[in-house]
Amino acid sequence: MSYISMNLVTMFYLIASVCFIQALKGLSSPATARTGNAFGMSGMAIATVTTVALIFKLQAQAATTGGLGFGLVLLGVVVGGGIGAFAAKKVEMTKMPELVAAMHSLIGLAAVCIAVAVVAEPWVFQITTAGVALPFGNRLELFIGTFVGAVTFSGSVIAFGKLSGKYKFRLFQGAPVSFPGQHMLNLGIAIALVALGLVFCFAPGIEPAWTPFIIMALLAFILGVLIIIPIGGADMPVVVSMLNSYSGWAAAGIGFSLNNSMLIIAGSLVGSSGAILSYIMCKAMNRSFFNVILGGFGGDPAAAAAGGAQEQRPVKSGSAEDAAFIMSNAETVIIVPGYGLAVARAQHSLKELVEKLTHKGVIVKYAIHPVAGRMPGHMNVLLAEAEVPYDQVFEMEDINGEFGQTDVVLVLGANDVVNPAAKDPKSPIAGMPILEAYKAKSIIVNKRSMASGYAGLDNDLFYQANTMMVFGDAKKVIEAMVKAVD
Ligand code: NDP
Repeated sequence: MSYISMNLVTMFYLIASVCFIQALKGLSSPATARTGNAFGMSGMAIATVTTVALIFKLQAQAATTGGLGFGLVLLGVVVGGGIGAFAAKKVEMTKMPELVAAMHSLIGLAAVCIAVAVVAEPWVFQITTAGVALPFGNRLELFIGTFVGAVTFSGSVIAFGKLSGKYKFRLFQGAPVSFPGQHMLNLGIAIALVALGLVFCFAPGIEPAWTPFIIMALLAFILGVLIIIPIGGADMPVVVSMLNSYSGWAAAGIGFSLNNSMLIIAGSLVGSSGAILSYIMCKAMNRSFFNVILGGFGGDPAAAAAGGAQEQRPVKSGSAEDAAFIMSNAETVIIVPGYGLAVARAQHSLKELVEKLTHKGVIVKYAIHPVAGRMPGHMNVLLAEAEVPYDQVFEMEDINGEFGQTDVVLVLGANDVVNPAAKDPKSPIAGMPILEAYKAKSIIVNKRSMASGYAGLDNDLFYQANTMMVFGDAKKVIEAMVKAVD
């Protein structure tokens, strides 16, 4: 029987890598995103099949020494692939951020498991021969890979909890969780990790120095938790992209250990694109990139609590029909979609409403805030799903100058991204750029109640004299508006 040659493996890995680069290129624009996804799926399929073929070959070669458990590998592919396919099919759009955080945690855990296996039996991975100590370079790669993987795992579990709103558990609170000396503790752990790394890398003898390795892994798990818990409120989007980046670097680190070019390339692509996305999100949120990387930022919890206190102030409210009447008689309307639109799955009805208004001669535009919703690009994905023409969709910096001259702004299930509290230096969201809806001549806000958004803050926009609240589920309200626009 002939097995796959190493030349073929290298060639297929190269093809898969090119697919991943094409995937990233495609995903940079909504118009090419589907093609980008197709490239990504093809690349992953090629990489997986090639790896399985390679393991089959290694298994056959090692058959005399007990084999590598090819059956277990296949079982892993079937069970893991099955769970992944089921989760992807089942998951609601609003639960995507949690799913992504959960996936990142698995990548981190996988990196730790692989590193432990390599440290224990490097000869199985053809890094050394039996009876020979792991070289310094490999020890360093494995140490760093395990560290990044462990931080990614526990940090992603906390992010998952925060995003899925499991607030009963204190560490999963949306608000920042902090305590005195938190930064010093983080620093102490970082110094201890460097010391443990030195002991592990320079340990004499053939047997790996398990004690510093295990203590490092435990400390890294704790550090992951400590880095993410102080991040709260509106700053979570940056964390999601940062963990995305960490998971990529964890995979790349393990790729170096295993001498696997595919893992190195794919991991670096994920790591660097995640880092670039984090940088872009930081700029959008007006936060310091290094503070985020070091996990030392997030609002003051006391300020968040104070800002979240609901005031009993009068608001003006009206019906969907009133809102439809106002919009039909406007010359210009800007729509601000937010998380609530995704919850209500109202994007198709919204497109119908916009078509009707446009037909009546109203100029309608969509304004997208970079952190609207619960994942980067959430609103773009939502509108693209409803096939909203791209030329109607505008990013924050391109449309913010227009609000002052706009007749009506329709805020649909958005809250934090239009909260003028961001202009108040004492607010927990101080400095976060917002869509300046408050400048429009009339504002119509649709949500179900006066409840706060993700950051837990009251919103002055709702109490403005020129604001009309339309209470109700976004889908029902928009459907009523569609009927009312004749
Ligand atoms: P917000 O979370 O600030 O507000 C959403 C609003 O939608 C709520 O106030 C809610 O009010 C309303 N809503 C919920 N369900 C419905 C429904 N069925 N119909 C109508 N309204 C509804 O959302 P934004 O998009 O304005 O801001 C996003 C926030 O999430 C930011 O703080 C951002 O930092 C954070 N975040 C973003 C991530 C990202 O990557 N984009 C990731 C993690 C967090 P009510 O209950 O009264 O209806």
